[in-house]
Amino acid sequence: MIRDREKLDRLLNEVHQWVREVAHPNEDLVAAGDLVPDAIVKDMAERGFFGWSIPVEYGGLGLTTEELVLAALELSQCAVAFRARVGTNTGIGSEALVADGTEEQKKRFLPRLASGEATGCLALTEENAGSEASAIETSAILEGDEYILNGSKRYITNAPIADMFTVFARTDPDSKGSRGISAFLIERDTPGLSTSAPYKMMGQSGSPVGEVYFENCRVSKENLIGGKEGLGFKTAMKVLNKQRIHLSALCTGPAIRMLDMAMDHASTRKQFGKPIIDFQLVAALLADCQTEIQVAKSMVLETARARDEGKDIALEASISKYYASEMCGRVADRCVQVFGGAGFVADHSSIERYYRDIRLFRLYEGTSQMHQLNIARQMQRRRAS
Ligand SMILES: Cc1cc2nc3c(=O)[nH]c(=O)nc-3n(C[C@H](O)[C@H](O)[C@H](O)COP(=O)(O)OP(=O)(O)OC[C@H]3O[C@@H](n4cnc5c(N)ncnc54)[C@H](O)[C@@H]3O)c2cc1C
Repeated sequence: MIRDREKLDRLLNEVHQWVREVAHPNEDLVAAGDLVPDAIVKDMAERGFFGWSIPVEYGGLGLTTEELVLAALELSQCAVAFRARVGTNTGIGSEALVADGTEEQKKRFLPRLASGEATGCLALTEENAGSEASAIETSAILEGDEYILNGSKRYITNAPIADMFTVFARTDPDSKGSRGISAFLIERDTPGLSTSAPYKMMGQSGSPVGEVYFENCRVSKENLIGGKEGLGFKTAMKVLNKQRIHLSALCTGPAIRMLDMAMDHASTRKQFGKPIIDFQLVAALLADCQTEIQVAKSMVLETARARDEGKDIALEASISKYYASEMCGRVADRCVQVFGGAGFVADHSSIERYYRDIRLFRLYEGTSQMHQLNIARQMQRRRAS
């Protein structure tokens, strides 16, 4: 749903320009320093990039899903680190509060996330709970007016720099699976909460990912999201269903950028006396990329519109995430091929960095295999109804 075409076009144009004037020229700097510099973070915050999906009454832009997807398609046409820096606030780091927080919790936390003053993150994954997210073991036991949390989380995007943590923990110690899990909003300075240094990773330099530890971490009852125990897994699923659509767009943007770079290269690189784009085998690689990008874009926009209309999109969101993340991998591979040796040599092009950066897309927020299983399950469910 697009509410005000003119206003949205202004935002999309601003992001389009920002990506080309600020992000592209700073990609090497971010990769070398493994950090998005403060000045760029401040710039993104002042432009409101952190608050896209947070409702207007809490200081955000309140974009609809379709508007968010269009903005994400623009912002992600650069190194992943830029959009990952704001992406937890526009996605998984705020959505649990937006979806299920009490009015008091929304008023207390969302304005700081919307302005970028605070960075959010979502801490679900644990050592023994990856694809099987409902197997979490972190416990939260009520003592008086406080919950005492013990356990640890791993692979948490922005954990090393986050100020606010959406944390899933088991409030019913006797429960198994998705029951007995609750969601909490925990602030960085809470005694008993600590984080690791950022991991060394295959790609996405400048996007810190790490672990979160809880050692008798005391959290007020007021930080239980929604104020009721046992609803945490439902909250997580709401967050992830929306995030799958958001992430599908974030997988498509880098594919658009890689294809742009490959088109430039294929038009200027000459062999056998002519630009390599004039060879039909090279043109076919580029055409296949464009075709798949178009499919992903259409699919994610249709799914976003369906969500805005209140339709059940569990199947479509999973299909979009599965297709867009796999598509981005195929596009990266073809683009490296178009670059030839320059596709492998980092001194000659940045396509190899994109190739490494985007590998994560098929692993997080549901691996491709988990989405295949979910798609089949949702198909059965729909047939049965
Ligand atoms: C850089 C990074 C950032 C991340 N950010 C976050 C974050 O911000 N917050 C958060 O909570 N988590 C985050 N994650 C965690 C991510 O969502 C998990 O890594 C992912 O869900 C997979 O879990 P796992 O790594 O334990 O793999 P596993 O679950 O151990 O899977 C290993 C392999 O087995 C396959 N497999 C497992 N079960 C099945 C099955 N039933 N059928 C078929 N195949 C199966 C998987 O597809 C995969 O190929 C992040 C991970 C990374 C690497």
